[in-house]
Amino acid sequence: MLIGVPKEIKNNEFRVGLTPPSVHELVARGHRVIVQTGAGAGIGLTDEQYTAAGATLVPSAQEIFAQADMVVKVKEPQPQECAMLRPGQILYTYLHLAPDPEQTAALVKSGAVCIAYETITGPGGGLPLLAPMSEVAGRMSIQAGASHLEKSKGGAGILLGGVPGVAAGHIVIIGAGVVGTNALQMAVGIGARVTVLDKNVDRLRQLDLVYGNRISTLYSNAHAIEEAVLSADLVIGGVLVPGAAAPKLVTRDMVSKMKKGAVIVDVAIDQGGCFATSHPTTHADPTFVVDGVVHYCVANMPGAVARTSTFALNNATIAHAVALANKGWRQALRDDVHLKNGLNVCEGKVTYAAVAKDLGYDY
Ligand code: NAD
Repeated sequence: MLIGVPKEIKNNEFRVGLTPPSVHELVARGHRVIVQTGAGAGIGLTDEQYTAAGATLVPSAQEIFAQADMVVKVKEPQPQECAMLRPGQILYTYLHLAPDPEQTAALVKSGAVCIAYETITGPGGGLPLLAPMSEVAGRMSIQAGASHLEKSKGGAGILLGGVPGVAAGHIVIIGAGVVGTNALQMAVGIGARVTVLDKNVDRLRQLDLVYGNRISTLYSNAHAIEEAVLSADLVIGGVLVPGAAAPKLVTRDMVSKMKKGAVIVDVAIDQGGCFATSHPTTHADPTFVVDGVVHYCVANMPGAVARTSTFALNNATIAHAVALANKGWRQALRDDVHLKNGLNVCEGKVTYAAVAKDLGYDY
């Protein structure tokens, strides 16, 4: 199969669909890979590394889309990319179609076979191609929070780990899923005092077994949340109710009573956020202040660490890319129900129930 990797064109997107090691995996199995010149330059993946891995460089996205049997990307195709897709061509990338009727219509019109990373399931449950980005965002949330607690960034001027003779800062993590667990690992690592809340007591039990008395676990309800956030220096929001907007667990009133100069990192902002005072921000202007509390609400946190994110994403995507290339999409989807769950649009039809329902397509 001929596989094509265009340079991402969405604003401030530096990730790339295939790393040189992933190119090598495909080439070693007899496939050909074409990569747009400079596709990985933003994260230090040079054209020379791609050619050494066996790729052929082509100068334009037009050539990638015109030639490739399968296009591998990171972000959803932009309108000019949708216009270049061909009937029967495989598109393998994040799509997030439900809130995006224009993109969905363009993909339907293209006749392409569009497989979305975010709906591919895993044998152990969960969404394994989303998990790496939650891992990145969870770990990064502590880094972002620590940085914004510095005086020059508007924070209270607190070092989370403390120093001998001065108490450590208090980090409260709401939601102990992938984001929360990864945030917890970093929070414990820097020596902060940590409280974790979740509605899932089994999850809290597991964390208690691992971390013992280095952390406090609390069953999540309005009372426990209020008590925890009022004493917090940093609060991480990592809740998810699948298929729904994030519940507003921290009210405006609670925020107004928090310590001045405390920091909120609302990782769940991509689902609307779990703080009543949150609204999405960007890497260019990541924070705003409400009632003296610094809010960091970047909807695309992994973009800030695009190199790590690219490698983490490739670890999760490459096996299915190889299956699609080896078998063709029909056989690969027949053989693997989890990969089939990724099929969102196929040859002019919406093939994912939730997207069809939300956007009014026949299914
Ligand atoms: P997850 O499903 O692994 O974990 C969510 C956790 O929230 C679960 O443990 C669940 O029990 C818990 N929860 C649900 N309701 C709760 C409540 N009322 N109180 C406390 N806990 C509750 O999800 P995840 O992968 O950790 O993702 C969390 C959120 O982060 C999602 O909205 C995801 O889209 C988002 N996310 C954002 C970014 C970003 O860049 N901003 C990046 C990755 C993920």
